[in-house]
Amino acid sequence: MKKIIVISSGKGGVGKTTTAVNLGAAMNHFGKDVVIVDGNLSTPNIGIHLNSPEVPISLNDVLKKRAELNEAIYQHHSGLKIIPSSLSIKELKKTKLKRLKELKKELNKLSEHIIIDSAAGLGEEAISAIEMADELILVTNPEMPAITDALKTIKLAEQQKIPVTGVIVTRVRQDKIELQPETVKEMLEVPVMGMIPEDITIKKAVNEKNSVIHTHPRSKPARAYKEIAARLFDIEYDSRKERPSFLKRIFKKEK
Ligand code: ADP
Ligand code: MG
Repeated sequence: MKKIIVISSGKGGVGKTTTAVNLGAAMNHFGKDVVIVDGNLSTPNIGIHLNSPEVPISLNDVLKKRAELNEAIYQHHSGLKIIPSSLSIKELKKTKLKRLKELKKELNKLSEHIIIDSAAGLGEEAISAIEMADELILVTNPEMPAITDALKTIKLAEQQKIPVTGVIVTRVRQDKIELQPETVKEMLEVPVMGMIPEDITIKKAVNEKNSVIHTHPRSKPARAYKEIAARLFDIEYDSRKERPSFLKRIFKKEK
């Protein structure tokens, strides 16, 4: 697995930030050192997900050369390391997004692995994040608009010669109308790295300002994210062994 992984989508609201947080937490679970960077400077969410909505030194300060990158790292109580961006619109206006690329060298020195959560769309902000990638992971939902937008991002990555590791399909409900994984694979022509079910534990984890890996380690989404992380590192992991007991399942207790 390469160093800088950018989580990208095309369409907004598909589950990028959720995936950045939980893939990072799953990598931590397997003993990997990782820093999650909020590369979505216009609508930053990593800090909100992980209990650091406003921090004294953010990525914006680093981009403005007011601080060093390692001064903007914060550690969540779960152990997850993050570099949040500022929620302030005033700060955003003063931030030069193009500088993001200049940080690549420093990011390389920071940690074993870096996950960058990026903005939706294919504007300057999203492209600045994509250009930093050693590898790109797409997040999509099993529906046509999300897939069409993901395809555009894949084409852009190809033009920039950035390898696309695959696509994570999230918010899967397994109903009759959603697209099947084989169809997603055929349309995007990249491997499907995993399927994350639509599940209430994701919302509960956000509410607890933590990853679902920590709040509901045996839940379906937590096991699905762990499966993806394990595969990325060729680690043996049998998610069935972490399934909740039969009784807990029938009483719908996720833990
Ligand atoms: P993006 O970063 O792509 O905009 P988010 O990660 O913020 O997307 O997710 C968008 C919304 O979908 C959030 O409210 C999040 O809680 C919800 N969500 C994401 N993944 C799941 C899931 N597997 N099950 C239920 N809700 C989810
Ligand atoms: Mg987001």
